[in-house]
Amino acid sequence: MRDFNPNFFWQNKEIGQMEPISSFDYSGGRIFGGGSSINGEQYVRPTSITMSKWELSTEDSDWSPKSAIKAFKHLENYNGNTNNRKARGFSGPIDIREVGFTEAGADLVEAVATAHNSKGGLPKPELTDYNNPETIYGGFNRFQVFQKPSGNRESAATSMLNKEVLARKNLKLSLRSTVTRVIFEGKKAIGVEYIKDGACKKVYARKLVILSAGPRSATILQQSGIGNSYQLCKIGINTVYNNPNVGHNMLNHLVNTVVLTSDAKPSKDPNNLYTGGAFLPDPLLPKTELGRSVELIGNPAPGFLIIAILMNQLGSEGYALIPSKDPLAPILASDEALKDPVDLDTFVACYRRQIVPIVKQLHKINPAYNLVSPTFEVINDTIALKEYIKTNLAQAFHWQSQCRIGDVKHGVVDTNGYVHGVKHLIVADNSIAPVKVDANMASVAFMIGYIISGKLLRKFKQETECC
Ligand SMILES: Cc1cc2nc3c(=O)[nH]c(=O)nc-3n(C[C@H](O)[C@H](O)[C@H](O)COP(=O)(O)OP(=O)(O)OC[C@H]3O[C@@H](n4cnc5c(N)ncnc54)[C@H](O)[C@@H]3O)c2cc1C
Repeated sequence: MRDFNPNFFWQNKEIGQMEPISSFDYSGGRIFGGGSSINGEQYVRPTSITMSKWELSTEDSDWSPKSAIKAFKHLENYNGNTNNRKARGFSGPIDIREVGFTEAGADLVEAVATAHNSKGGLPKPELTDYNNPETIYGGFNRFQVFQKPSGNRESAATSMLNKEVLARKNLKLSLRSTVTRVIFEGKKAIGVEYIKDGACKKVYARKLVILSAGPRSATILQQSGIGNSYQLCKIGINTVYNNPNVGHNMLNHLVNTVVLTSDAKPSKDPNNLYTGGAFLPDPLLPKTELGRSVELIGNPAPGFLIIAILMNQLGSEGYALIPSKDPLAPILASDEALKDPVDLDTFVACYRRQIVPIVKQLHKINPAYNLVSPTFEVINDTIALKEYIKTNLAQAFHWQSQCRIGDVKHGVVDTNGYVHGVKHLIVADNSIAPVKVDANMASVAFMIGYIISGKLLRKFKQETECC
């Protein structure tokens, strides 16, 4: 387990994973720009398959594939290749850089194409632009990353909070401040309480309170009295609205890694962080229309090729709950990783049906590629493979759905982000995602911000016109 620098990361260990999985970090960026200022910079948008499910679940065309593409077109300033210019943005505030070719990436693309194109029915030998919503599966050599053309990191802070925005009279930032709870007048949110320089302070809102605390929005709601009233009462918090869904249904993407020897030359670009990758269907249900379930990410290391397997459609659901009314106490969070037994079977099938053919092709392309871990022996032995998967399990910090959109019975917020049971309170971050998302989640956070703010602007405009 890594130790995250407390100057930039929230400190919190998860609890209660199944043995022998050690606990994960329930962390994220505690810094200007949040997770986007510390993450791995991968830019992977949700596919239209995910957005169709999102639209269906919310019955709201603002969350449709078309609307998502519109959001990304406005948000991106993409500088790379594409075979679908209509789906990409070239003048938005967020710089997206397509990094250059790598030798290992090219081999991976060829291996994926040979191993899976004929058998798995993948449509193209190489994805020109994996964020083209029309091309779902296949290998790719060039990653798209949140970077400026110089290779410097692009984040929510660098892209959105420029000097002009920061100079706005109606914007006030309070840095080094920790929100402890939302203040209510009856059922109406009227402000937030926060700690700054060791003192408890309050700030009041004229119209609305918008929470965008990512993995911590659900726990701020609980500290504010919105959650399971029985649990809240036990820790001495007065219930404002009883909603047992708050902090539950939490999804994440889980990771395993495959290690091969390699003599591929490293990229000359120090900001080219990855060596290609691939998107594949669910290995247990390899029907291509079901969507991207497996993301392979090539990582360079001298003498090795490390392939991370990122599973994004798993069934296990975790939670993020508060243990006491102390807002600074560690959160009780758990991914409940692999609790759903199908998840472990999915990893097993991925190794056997997807990874083994790719590894064999890599060796054919260049005998310097040799599997180190897990060995073929382990892969062929179900008990040993399951043990390997568990002991090597990691997570992607892609938490979602702790405050999911849904009706009052099943969700926490409505389709516009308004928290059920109270007034003037919105959640706008990845915790509202109502379905399993097949993206790397930073893109989704930007999309949610764009769509919710669009809804708000329309509402305020209508209200002004009415008056
Ligand atoms: C190590 C790591 C690597 C990752 N790599 C990638 C990647 O390569 N590509 C990708 O797409 N995604 C990646 N992710 C995930 C991605 O960064 C997150 O999904 C995304 O940032 C979530 O956005 P959000 O707005 O929901 O939450 P956040 O980005 O976490 O934003 C929430 C903000 O609220 C603040 N906050 C929380 N609680 C409080 C409080 N009580 N008071 C005041 N402020 C508060 C936080 O400090 C933060 O600034 C990674 C994440 C991590 C941690």
